[in-house]
Amino acid sequence: MRPLSELTRPNILKLKPYSSARDEYGGKEAKIFLDANENPYNVPYNRYPDPLQRELKEKIAKIKRVKEDRIFLGNGSDEAIDLAYRCFTRPGIDNVVAIEPTYGMYKVCANINDVEYRPVLLDDHFQTTADRLLARCNSKTKLIWICSPNNPTGNNIRREEIIKTIERFDGLCVVDEAYSDFSSEVPLRLELEKYPNLIVLNTFSKAWGCAAIRLGMAFASHEIIEIFNKVKYPYNINTLTQKQALEILKEPYDVEKWVKIILIERDRMIEAFKMLPFCIKTYPTDANFVLIKVNDAQAVYNYLEARGIIVRNRSKVALCGNCLRITIGRKSENNELLSALRQY
Ligand SMILES: *Cc1c(COP(=O)(O)O)cnc(C)c1O
Repeated sequence: MRPLSELTRPNILKLKPYSSARDEYGGKEAKIFLDANENPYNVPYNRYPDPLQRELKEKIAKIKRVKEDRIFLGNGSDEAIDLAYRCFTRPGIDNVVAIEPTYGMYKVCANINDVEYRPVLLDDHFQTTADRLLARCNSKTKLIWICSPNNPTGNNIRREEIIKTIERFDGLCVVDEAYSDFSSEVPLRLELEKYPNLIVLNTFSKAWGCAAIRLGMAFASHEIIEIFNKVKYPYNINTLTQKQALEILKEPYDVEKWVKIILIERDRMIEAFKMLPFCIKTYPTDANFVLIKVNDAQAVYNYLEARGIIVRNRSKVALCGNCLRITIGRKSENNELLSALRQY
């Protein structure tokens, strides 16, 4: 790995971050707060939130088995994705490499930041290799994006190839594990200590059932987290989000139970999709959705939409011609979908 000081955008390396009232105070015991020009009325919403979300990180550290100082919390994973560009890539100069097809935000953020995006097409099994990814890198490549389980294909990218990529690449490797709770693969976030150039993304939006509160996580070396913290908005996670996240973290068994039910439903749905005469292929999945190839994706999409059932048409995505991406819902919702499909 190149030294982090070489990988970081020069202006970010030099940046002296904004210091908020609550940064300077640092969270020690106190009873009267007259430091942030807040209104003393309308408790508790009158107060700025903890800029570093210490209480929340302490709980996340235990559940995710990652040290507190290796956790960044953002307004959805999307904030961490954008920060990776803003901290480590120079607009108009650097480039990033990513598997293709994959989650759309990596490319959108590259475009917003005026950074060249180099997609590397997956093979027929939606797999890639370290060799293929590294062949697209040059001295200006700062990030490699790997989503595993991948969206929209659903499968895990082979772990040995991800590890080889991390080990051989001299920049930063971002592995998005948004769906790892639905997979039996050991998450790479647990290997963080071994790889100083690894950034792992997680989210509250999927297994944790909290897409509404916009809370994403990045796990990385303390040095990388410090750079993210320097660049993020001072109070990026609002009080309501922090509170709701603490609530859901008190009920991890609910999450486990949801995941179990979703996995059972996933297997049932795959078997049912296979029986549909117009379903050409159901792809293996390690996530909470299934990609299926049908004879006419737009027609099936329109048919379902007319019945009030919305799935995702991924036909225009590379390697996904005539493919629909179907999220696993509640049992009753899945049954309604199947009954509609059987009448198609
Ligand atoms: C859904 C999803 C996310 C979650 O994004 P949030 O901004 O945290 O809601 C992240 N990565 C991938 C690949 C996803 O599919």
